[in-house]
Amino acid sequence: MAAMKSCTTGKNVYASQALAEDALLEAYTRSDFPKGQGPVTVYVCNFCSSYHLTSKGPMNPRLAAALSDGTLKRLREAAAWERKLRR
Ligand SMILES: [Zn+2]
Repeated sequence: MAAMKSCTTGKNVYASQALAEDALLEAYTRSDFPKGQGPVTVYVCNFCSSYHLTSKGPMNPRLAAALSDGTLKRLREAAAWERKLRR
């Protein structure tokens, strides 16, 4: 795996919007964020020109869709099983 670029913001760096969105959805499969907390979308950084997650702004459409159509629920269940099997 290629080494990750780093950024002065200290945030995780994603090379593309799609990768950042994948990470955004993955964060929701691991954590159940209380309303108003946790990342909601991705943005292009002024410092590193890569993508980061942010808790500010309108919700990312892919995340919103995954939340409303049950995709995230399925991902969460799959992740929970994976954790059980790894024990
Ligand atoms: Zn950056």
